[in-house]
Amino acid sequence: MDFRFPAADEAFRDEVRDFVAKEWDANQYHLNDVSNASWDLDNTEALEASQEFAKKLVDKGWYTMHWPKEHGGQDAPLQRMLIYREEMAYRGAPATSAQSGDAIIIHGSPWQKENWLPDIAKAEMPIALGLSEPGNGSDLAGVTTRAVKDGDDWVINGQKMWTSTAHHSTWIRMLVRTDPEAPKHRGLSIVYLPLDSPGVTVRPLYDMAGRRRWSEEFFDNVRVPARNMLGEANRGWYMMAASLTSERVEIGSPAALLREWEKFVDFARGYRVNGGSVLDDPTARNRVADIRVKLAVFRAICYQGVWESSLGEDVSRVASISRVLSGELVQELWRGFAGIIGEASLVSPHSWSEAPLDGFIGVNALMSTGRTFGHGTKEIQRNIVAQRGLRLPR
Ligand SMILES: Cc1cc2nc3c(=O)[nH]c(=O)nc-3n(C[C@H](O)[C@H](O)[C@H](O)COP(=O)(O)OP(=O)(O)OC[C@H]3O[C@@H](n4cnc5c(N)ncnc54)[C@H](O)[C@@H]3O)c2cc1C
Repeated sequence: MDFRFPAADEAFRDEVRDFVAKEWDANQYHLNDVSNASWDLDNTEALEASQEFAKKLVDKGWYTMHWPKEHGGQDAPLQRMLIYREEMAYRGAPATSAQSGDAIIIHGSPWQKENWLPDIAKAEMPIALGLSEPGNGSDLAGVTTRAVKDGDDWVINGQKMWTSTAHHSTWIRMLVRTDPEAPKHRGLSIVYLPLDSPGVTVRPLYDMAGRRRWSEEFFDNVRVPARNMLGEANRGWYMMAASLTSERVEIGSPAALLREWEKFVDFARGYRVNGGSVLDDPTARNRVADIRVKLAVFRAICYQGVWESSLGEDVSRVASISRVLSGELVQELWRGFAGIIGEASLVSPHSWSEAPLDGFIGVNALMSTGRTFGHGTKEIQRNIVAQRGLRLPR
């Protein structure tokens, strides 16, 4: 099979590669630092470097390239985004984009487009996603956070949790119940709320690696202007389901994982135990080979998603397959590396100069647990594949 793209796309790939080589030092800030810092804020230098890099992507026009031209984008198809994300991830650079504006472009009012899109386009309006609640994660239609209309405002009471990056976001896009009498799916709406509004409390939540990955937010009579509601009231479920589907096609992930795999194999070749390389052990060799095969499969599935999207087809089946595959593969990869290196993989990052791969193997093995939960658990994704993909009965 030949995965080459048309010449113009391959030229774009070269351009991205040259840009990263010039603008991002993957040796100084490798993606482990950046992605872990983005949760934890324990490495503000890496986080600031990635924010500065995002500004360069803005200047280059790549940050909004998938947006329509009328909103300052380039109407870039998913195929271009694939190349962009793949190349960035493989080179170890954080390929951010203005994805949080996509729902506003599709469903937003003229006022929202005029007032919010320019800031999102400049990477100056970080928006957290407030879906999950203490009793409603998989069962999103059960959201209980209440919004009640009062004059020109909605008044919000309730709680969200597991909200990634809320501690360094300025806004939250949240699912709220606006009609408690309607059937579950039909009483929900989406509102955008500044996180510094009076009555909002943001509290930290830590993961099993001890990192501040999430926050929980409490809303106590928080007033939000009616113009901050996305689309029509009580249509929130349908708008949110559509945007979650497009976010689930993880087109850059196989390249990011391939980079980690190559780094690990390079390192493990020279990592000596009992007088030889750890890769002399046939079980270890089988393990890395197995992961490499799965990486190729994962990449092919992502390409299929891009292909189906270019034909205008519904990508929800491929998106869910890709989500299950990536979650399980990330776990297998980091846990597999930890198993091969043994106890030394548990040393914390930056705590010992000899720590294998800077100490990130153990942390990533622990943090990878959440990969089969975030954006919907793997059981829920498998249900989607069964029902929407294979047309099996509920
Ligand atoms: C890294 C990470 C980042 C996250 N970021 C965010 C965020 O930014 N914003 C946000 O709102 N949320 C976020 N979440 C929360 C995430 O969306 C929820 O954890 C997830 O939807 C599952 O909900 P829950 O934790 O309440 O588990 P539950 O829904 O209680 O599920 C518990 C178990 O029961 C299974 N289960 C439940 N219902 C069914 C069913 N119908 N059929 C089969 N099995 C079922 C689940 O698969 C799971 O194994 C994040 C989570 C993680 C791990």
